[in-house]
Amino acid sequence: MNNKRPGFGFSTRAIHHGYDPKDHHGALVPPIYLSATFAFPTAEYGAACFAGEASGHFYTRISNPTLALLESRMAALENGEAAVAFSSGMGAIAATFWTLLRPDDEVIVSQTLYGCTFALLHGIGEFGIKVRHVDLTDLAALQTALGPATRMIYCETPANPTLRLVDIAAVARLAHQQPNVTVVVDNTYCTPYLQRPLELGADVVVHSATKYLSGHGDITAGIAVSSHAIAQRIRLHGLKDLTGAVMSPQDAALLMRGLKTLALRMDRHCSNAQAVAEALQAHSAVQWVTYPGLASFPQYELAARQMKQSGGMIAFELKGGIDTGRRFMNALKLFTRAVSLGDAESLAQHPASMTHSTYTPEERAQHGISEGLVRLSVGLEDVADLLADVQQALGKCARAVARPTLLAAHAGK
Ligand SMILES: *Cc1c(COP(=O)(O)O)cnc(C)c1O
Repeated sequence: MNNKRPGFGFSTRAIHHGYDPKDHHGALVPPIYLSATFAFPTAEYGAACFAGEASGHFYTRISNPTLALLESRMAALENGEAAVAFSSGMGAIAATFWTLLRPDDEVIVSQTLYGCTFALLHGIGEFGIKVRHVDLTDLAALQTALGPATRMIYCETPANPTLRLVDIAAVARLAHQQPNVTVVVDNTYCTPYLQRPLELGADVVVHSATKYLSGHGDITAGIAVSSHAIAQRIRLHGLKDLTGAVMSPQDAALLMRGLKTLALRMDRHCSNAQAVAEALQAHSAVQWVTYPGLASFPQYELAARQMKQSGGMIAFELKGGIDTGRRFMNALKLFTRAVSLGDAESLAQHPASMTHSTYTPEERAQHGISEGLVRLSVGLEDVADLLADVQQALGKCARAVARPTLLAAHAGK
């Protein structure tokens, strides 16, 4: 399909963008270029490639035809100009930080972030970059925090694992009142099918493509999407020189296979999660449940405005905290106890002891991650089976909560 033909819908672009079988012996599915290096017709041409004066592929850490196809497709889905593929989400995030920040620069980050991103911020702090955690739902606080040294605002929305939202358009408007501030949004939880931060004013979108984008739990991968100018800097500095975290062309092919069904999968993730969230909310063993599709969600109006649907992730806490939470997780029969998210399989995990154990308990308290929070990634199974599993596991927790009360009553006799 010609890249320049406008007007195709999301799924059509996810399936066809940037590829025409007639250019590839009629192959319906794009071939995988496993070559690490590419022949130069002349020594002069090789020199021109290295000088950035010729545009051919010459070494896969910098570019490769399979990666280039994936990158153009991701740019088309996020409505950006260009994308850079990485071997993991952390590769994409690290390369973006290292490219856009220098010692003495300040980066403002939202309150809650994925555990390894939080750890990476400690890492860049050791190299003289100042990190400020700001509650980005408070625009006055952001206005106060913005200063002459601010070079980047970084957030996840919804945040992993609290599901707190950031109003991307409002933050970008404030940030861009000042020159040289780049707004970077981790769009892993939503994917471009549910939310497109670049259209709302962000400058860079980063992804863990390990999650929904690939969708089958069989690769680790990352993507950064932005303008041509920023993508070129991230590629030639953050990817080529600083991290070397290049995606394998085989993984790019798996990721493109996943993208073909992204819209279908997200629709099902969202409808299944809505049903599970409602079941949790209705159950007496549940202390609280957070899901952007519930009317009780504190930022329900923002979710409806910024996201096409509510996503596949749920955070909740049971009465009795993490002891009951562990009992719930151990009682699950269909949900798998595992980290990661966005897979066909429904997954349950405990952030405080798993994905967010990079925070100290004090930091978790400060950043709004309660010790009893259980995170669900609702998969693509039949919703009746998911509901039955959650109900039977909750049933065991309800009894577990009731028992101490009974014992206390007996003890009193
Ligand atoms: C998983 C995750 C990452 C890290 O991605 P990897 O592919 O595991 O390196 C970053 N951000 C969010 C929101 C994530 O869920």
